[in-house]
Amino acid sequence: MDDGPVWTKRDADVVWHGFTQMSAYAESSPIVVDRAEGHELIDVDGNRYLDAISSLWVNTIGHHVPELDQAVRDQLERGAHSTMLGNGNRVVIELAEALAERVPVEHPHFLFASDGAAAVEQALKIAFQYWVNRGVTGRTTFLAFGGAYHGDTVGALSVGDGGFGTDLFDPLRFPVLRAPGFADPQCFETAAAMVAEHADELAAVIVEPLVQGAAGMQLAPAGAFAMVAEACRRHDVLLICDEVATGFGRTGTLFASEQCGVRPDLLVLGKGLTAGYMAQSATVASGAVFDAFLGPDLSEKTLYHGHSYSGNALACAVALRHLELLDEWRVLDNVCARSDELRSLLSARVAPLPEVREVRLQGLMGGVELAPPAGESRWGRLVCAAAVQRGVLLRPLGDVVVLMPPLTITTAEVERIVDVLADAIAATALASGKRRPDSPSDATAP
Ligand SMILES: *Cc1c(COP(=O)(O)O)cnc(C)c1O
Repeated sequence: MDDGPVWTKRDADVVWHGFTQMSAYAESSPIVVDRAEGHELIDVDGNRYLDAISSLWVNTIGHHVPELDQAVRDQLERGAHSTMLGNGNRVVIELAEALAERVPVEHPHFLFASDGAAAVEQALKIAFQYWVNRGVTGRTTFLAFGGAYHGDTVGALSVGDGGFGTDLFDPLRFPVLRAPGFADPQCFETAAAMVAEHADELAAVIVEPLVQGAAGMQLAPAGAFAMVAEACRRHDVLLICDEVATGFGRTGTLFASEQCGVRPDLLVLGKGLTAGYMAQSATVASGAVFDAFLGPDLSEKTLYHGHSYSGNALACAVALRHLELLDEWRVLDNVCARSDELRSLLSARVAPLPEVREVRLQGLMGGVELAPPAGESRWGRLVCAAAVQRGVLLRPLGDVVVLMPPLTITTAEVERIVDVLADAIAATALASGKRRPDSPSDATAP
């Protein structure tokens, strides 16, 4: 039975998909998921796809995990949600306590929200009000990096570096100081110098530690971040680390800041927090930042901000169980071992292809930058579509094919992803007439 087209039509009739041109949606053979199991998504026709993008980077230890499902069921018996505005909830406290032992922040306090962008907004507003509360004037701007992505709400867009067709919102974005992107090896020296020069104007510096994800997996050496943190400390500027993408083991440590030797004043968490189960994010503030908001009840020092679903109990219950499972299953060990395998397979089979410009990988956060023929803007899309036809779900960022497998991926699955990717690149090149069938590089395709 072929139900796919029927569902795709029903879908396109009523659902508006993010970052998707809806006039082309139905023709681009989207998969309509019926259910998910382990590392696979199963569509309405029963076809299985390896979820090699972890459902847009949120999934960590697989879908329909019995232990996580049980945590949700158990919490359902106790109530799905109660407000965090002025009242508490047991499971939220338990999660915050468990996170407090693990986050690279001094005396952490957790302000929950729903999406990564909302948690970024919270960090920006907290940083801004921190200076107001301390009676320091003029600290009204932020320093952000080239290529940065911090989410799609207007504040997050402002610290982000645009792109993805968002430039039309420029009139809405507030101005920020912009250091170069990670592709420039001097970017951290430059950023540190900008911090020194503009300290009087800066509320905070915001950075994605180790990997700029949406910029196409741009990597920077771990040791380089300390110099920015040091400049922030010396010139009394807050440091915000956006670990929405890198958090919860993605880069090989629980948080990328650990590898960078950085302890931010504000840490932003999202995506992997709930193992990909529920919308929940958090802004983590250091004790020093938190304390600046203490004052008489109803005074202007209060943070007048809070989202309806902040600290959703179901989400916190699954996040809490997820933290335990990361330890119990030694997930970080798997990330490091599979990352090594992925790295050597990619360098043997994918990097040498003439259609590939560069392979970048940190932990299980990878990008394969294609070298498309002149004038070809859809190669990323075509290669990923060819991979989907072969049963591996991939989605590009422009010319970069993103590889973000679940953190519990197996050796066999890593091999399959690389096989399919090499095959998809070869097939795309052949179909576009850019490679002869007897081209020597085909020897690397299965
Ligand atoms: C995805 C992402 C965000 C935005 O998170 P949403 O949940 O999509 O709002 C912010 N920062 C980084 C680094 C991200 O990768």
